Amino acid sequence: MQSMHLPVSLFNTLTRGMEPVRPGEDGQVRIYNCGPTVYNFVHIGNLRTFLFQDLLRRTLVASGHPVRFCMNLTDVEDKIIRDSQKDLPESATNVERHGAMKALTERFTALFLEDLDALRILRPDVMPKATDHIPHMIALIQKLEAKGLAYAREGSVYCRIAGLPQYGCLAHLDREGMRAGTSVDSDEYERDTVNDFVLWKAAKAGEPTWESPWGPGRPGWHIECSAMGIEHLGERVEIHTGGVDLIFPHHENEIAQSEGALGHPWVASWVHGEFLMVEGEKMSKSLGNFFTLRDLHEKGVDPIAFRFAIQSNHYRKLYNFSFEGLKGAENALKRIRAFRRRMEGEGEAGGGAWKEALQPLPRIEEARHTFWKAMGDDLNTPEALAALFTLITDLNAQDDRIALSREERDAALAFLDETNAIFAAWPTEVGSADGEVEALLAARKAAKAAKDWAEADRIRDQIKALGIVIEDRKDGTTVWHRG
Ligand code: AMP
Ligand code: ZN
Repeated sequence: MQSMHLPVSLFNTLTRGMEPVRPGEDGQVRIYNCGPTVYNFVHIGNLRTFLFQDLLRRTLVASGHPVRFCMNLTDVEDKIIRDSQKDLPESATNVERHGAMKALTERFTALFLEDLDALRILRPDVMPKATDHIPHMIALIQKLEAKGLAYAREGSVYCRIAGLPQYGCLAHLDREGMRAGTSVDSDEYERDTVNDFVLWKAAKAGEPTWESPWGPGRPGWHIECSAMGIEHLGERVEIHTGGVDLIFPHHENEIAQSEGALGHPWVASWVHGEFLMVEGEKMSKSLGNFFTLRDLHEKGVDPIAFRFAIQSNHYRKLYNFSFEGLKGAENALKRIRAFRRRMEGEGEAGGGAWKEALQPLPRIEEARHTFWKAMGDDLNTPEALAALFTLITDLNAQDDRIALSREERDAALAFLDETNAIFAAWPTEVGSADGEVEALLAARKAAKAAKDWAEADRIRDQIKALGIVIEDRKDGTTVWHRG
């Protein structure tokens, strides 16, 4: 099998059109993903967005692009402060306040990482924390101030949207309706209250603070992502993602801050995933209609069935979550895994010649082509999976009558490995270390694609240390088993 190098096109919220992904000058695709606010368990709605980001990353890597994948952790923000400070006495020192905030965010960061692993979401290349980037945020705000794009008032600093002609470009806001000059202190607000938004918040009683040129305070939420994105991915970023609720104001404000400071466009493609819904409403903490991955686990749901249920739906379509709906995903997975076992074994001579016999090798190639073409077309997983299921039906029918040869079985297995690099749901061998091995294999593949041979060798040794034997096949795929 030839390796696939198909172009990938994505729907760009900025232009409201489909556009091919264009790597940067160094050939890399840099992706910044808004990560979780770590003050509680993430719910499965949040996880839908993280699964979409994983799908995007894996598809780009599989199509031959070296990817640098950054996901931040929001570890200072209004809700974090509210929950972490509530049991502290009024007399608590700043050090104690920071300590309480850190204890809360570290606890939920560890639990978030467990969820990522359980869902086989590959760990980011970089996972910056907002609290490690306060100097970067201050420097960025100072740049905006120097350009007249930010102003201080009573110890807080606001972004002057009147100075930014592009403000509103992402959310397609009507500039006439903007109330420039009035300012808003909260991080989250509706699009009919477009105001100068807060970059730095003056200290309030009962909150942890940092020193700044404007006095003690803390960053606004939006500046966190601009500072971390520019620091870890640079002044030109190919893709920025998040859920659709982040388009306004969060991403609109990121554009304002980053482009205001840099003086040129920052992100080429803004890609947004749709909501996970329950009974017609967005799943959210504030509505109280949420499940965590642990809730699913308690109800006996395999996390990988949830992964597959999410990924077999298109990322830009609403997904209505129900336990009933997960059963369909479980059955589909059973079908693929049973086919895998069948191909791993040797076929029995069947019922002789069959008049509708097909040619398995070209048929597999055809399915493979359709699969990757659909994936490259805005991650069209429903269509890609339809190609896989049709192939399974056809090959099973053929194998019932005329046993497929070893070569044909191996070609089918190679295709399953290739598709599993995206879906991570039908590995060669099911075991607890699967997620880790696959993550390492994907990292090694990315290192090789980036021609970073030292890193690729280091990862190979790491895989070996786990007692895993890997075999690079001629067709570019890699298979593994326990040694
Ligand atoms: P947060 O921790 O609230 O910042 O959210 C983390 C990510 O989850 C963001 O990208 C949100 O857009 C996304 N998100 C929140 N609720 C949902 C939902 N019901 N369905 C899909 N994504 C969501
Ligand atoms: Zn963000």
